[in-house]
Amino acid sequence: MTKQIIQDLTKEALVEEIKPAFRAKQIYQWIYHKYVTSFEEMKNLPKEMRLALETKYTLSPLKTVMVQNSKDGSRKYLFELHDGHTVEAVLLKMRDKEYHEDGSVKHQERYTVCISSQVGCKVGCAFCLTAKGGFMRNLTAGEIVEQVRLIKKDNSIDANRRVNLVFMGMGEPLDNLAEVAKSVKIFADPEGMAIAPHRQTISTSGLSSKIEKLGKMELGVNLAISLHAVDDELRQKLMPINKAYNIESIITAVKNFPVNDRKRVMFEYLVIKDVNDDISAAKKLLSLLDGIKAKVNLIYFNPYGGTEFKRPSDEDMKKFQEYLTKRGLHCTIRESKGLDISAACGQLREQELEKSHG
Ligand code: SAH
Ligand code: SF4
Repeated sequence: MTKQIIQDLTKEALVEEIKPAFRAKQIYQWIYHKYVTSFEEMKNLPKEMRLALETKYTLSPLKTVMVQNSKDGSRKYLFELHDGHTVEAVLLKMRDKEYHEDGSVKHQERYTVCISSQVGCKVGCAFCLTAKGGFMRNLTAGEIVEQVRLIKKDNSIDANRRVNLVFMGMGEPLDNLAEVAKSVKIFADPEGMAIAPHRQTISTSGLSSKIEKLGKMELGVNLAISLHAVDDELRQKLMPINKAYNIESIITAVKNFPVNDRKRVMFEYLVIKDVNDDISAAKKLLSLLDGIKAKVNLIYFNPYGGTEFKRPSDEDMKKFQEYLTKRGLHCTIRESKGLDISAACGQLREQELEKSHG
């Protein structure tokens, strides 16, 4: 009999399983505050209970097979699942300046973890390396949660340090909505990692019907849309999913999505040289987003071996950004964090698969 992954259980589910209820809470704290890897370490539980847990559950659904460090401090992880498949996650570190009333400036490290939701992806975007390997399977909530737990443990990130999450690793999160939604709740549990939903961002290629469904769930998560093109013809070439869910349907779904008062919907725009980097696209983008509390994140296309697409010039990126910001649209350029460790989605895994296939 294969053991159940204990991280697959929400606290409510664990409370159902383990009596008395306070024991379930203790277990949750051992897992998510102390990052233990065995039930034996749960010292305040009775021995029989530890043994019973051991026979029924596993605490280690993922094995770290590789860690790559980037010059900018990002760390990329390759994890192996129990069936041998691998997924990636990245720890991004950003230095924030905090200005205090007494005039002092404090540098604070801010952590963001980028996590995977599937092994591979069905969506098949032309520019994406994850798509090249096809789709293998969905991750369970526990396998999603464990990526963050292992990264926090490995970097000694204290349980009460603030961490942001982005579902921007491998896979299309809305194609695995049930498990992703469950993981959002497990992440947010105050007795667990306590990562509030407004610190979690779900990035989607634009499955409009699922965006509506996610909105109705009222989880409180942030939404990011991978738009990448402003007309259906080009978007269809880059992202075949656009045939099923065109730009208009995405805009409508976004307009219906419940957005936190202090937040905006993020529109990601992957800039590819000579494909979508001209000012006419910026102009169209501006009118598309009219009436939406939006912000735009321009991403440099990150080239890899065998792709026909090219990275845009810094100058064109700047011009595109300026066009939007001058007209009042929030627009940032995503620095290619961890570029030297090939941080764009699916790239580390692909390298490893290539090596192992000779
Ligand atoms: N499937 C979801 C989330 C994972 S992809 C989505 O598409 O939104 C996360 C982001 O990585 C997407 O915005 C995607 O466009 C981007 N991406 C994919 N390939 C890339 C590449 N070669 N260079 C830079 N970004 C890339
Ligand atoms: Fe899937 Fe996102 Fe890659 Fe498109 S960009 S293939 S949706 S992971």
